[in-house]
Amino acid sequence: MSIIPNLTSRSLVFTDSHNGIVKTEGIGYNTSMKCMLCPRLCGVDRKAGETGFCAAPAQPVVARAARHDWEEPCISGSRGSGAVFFSGCNLGCVYCQNREISRSIRGKRLDAAGLRELFARLRDTGVHNINLVTATPYADVVAEALEVSPGIPVVWNSGGYERLETLRMLEGKIDVYLPDMKYADDALAMALSGAPDYFGTADAAIREMARQTGPCRFDGEGLMTGGVLVRHLVLPGFLANSKDVLEWFADAFHKGEAMLSLMAQYTPNGYGGPERRLREEEWREVSDYLYMLGIRSGYVQELSSAEAEYIPAFDGTGLE
Ligand code: SF4
Repeated sequence: MSIIPNLTSRSLVFTDSHNGIVKTEGIGYNTSMKCMLCPRLCGVDRKAGETGFCAAPAQPVVARAARHDWEEPCISGSRGSGAVFFSGCNLGCVYCQNREISRSIRGKRLDAAGLRELFARLRDTGVHNINLVTATPYADVVAEALEVSPGIPVVWNSGGYERLETLRMLEGKIDVYLPDMKYADDALAMALSGAPDYFGTADAAIREMARQTGPCRFDGEGLMTGGVLVRHLVLPGFLANSKDVLEWFADAFHKGEAMLSLMAQYTPNGYGGPERRLREEEWREVSDYLYMLGIRSGYVQELSSAEAEYIPAFDGTGLE
C-alpha cells in the first residue's frame, strides 16, 4: 500500500439509548427486547436466543485479538494495530474474505468487562490502537466496554452499513472511523451484499462519523489519532460503481475532512461475486479517475497486494 504521491501524509417507538436494543410499541421492556442495532432492523430478541440477519448472539463473540500489520500505514504504523475480530456481520457480501467468521459464529464470548480486559491486554503489547473489526452487531456491549478508555486510539472498522442512532451511542468513544463505502449502486449492493439501501445508509453514516470526529489528525509518528478513513474495494468488472463512489467522496469531503483508501485486493472466494482478480488496466482506469477528481488525501493500494495470505488465522489468537 502506498501513499498517494504529493500528499501528506421504521419505526422505532422507544429507544433504550444506553444499549441500543429497543423495545417496540406494545411490547413491554421487561418481556421482549428487539434488536434494532443496525439498518436491518430485524427486531429479534437476541437476549432470548433469537438471531437476525447477522447471526450474532447477544454477547460479543471474538475470533481473534492480535497485532495486525496489514491496515493502512497510518493505522498499522511500526508496532501494528490491535485488531479485535468480531464474529457475525450485518452485511452479506458474497465475496467476503472473512467468511469463516462473518457467515458463521466462532470464537470466545465476552461481556463488557471481558472486552475491557481484552483491550487492556492488547494495548499492553504495544500496538498503536484498538481496532474493532465488524463490531456493529455488538455495538451496545462495545459502547459499555469503552466507558473506560483503553488509553490508546480506538478504531471502528466496519462495512459502513450503520444506523445513525447506533453511531451516536458510540460518540466520544471512537477516535477513528474506518468504514467501507462499497457501493454507489444499490442494485449491485443488493446482488452482492443483500443490502438494497446501502448507498444512502452508508452515506449518512459516514457523514455522521465525520461529524463526530472532525478532521483527520495524526501523532508525531504519522499514526491517525482522529478522523475518518473511507475504504473502497474495486470490484472487477464494476468500474462504474467505483467511479461513482469516488465522485461521492470528492463531493462529500474536502482535503483533510476525511481520507480515502482505494483497495485492489479483491480475491474470488468461490461463493459468488466476480470470479477473477482485478486487471491492471481496470486498476489504472479507476486510480486515474481518483487523481482526475482531485482526491489527494489517502492511499492507493498496490495491485500486487491481492494476496490471500493477508487474511489472518481466526484461531482464537489472543483469547487464551
Ligand atoms: S445487529 Fe444483527 S440482529 Fe440486530 S438488526 Fe442488525 S442484523 Fe439484525
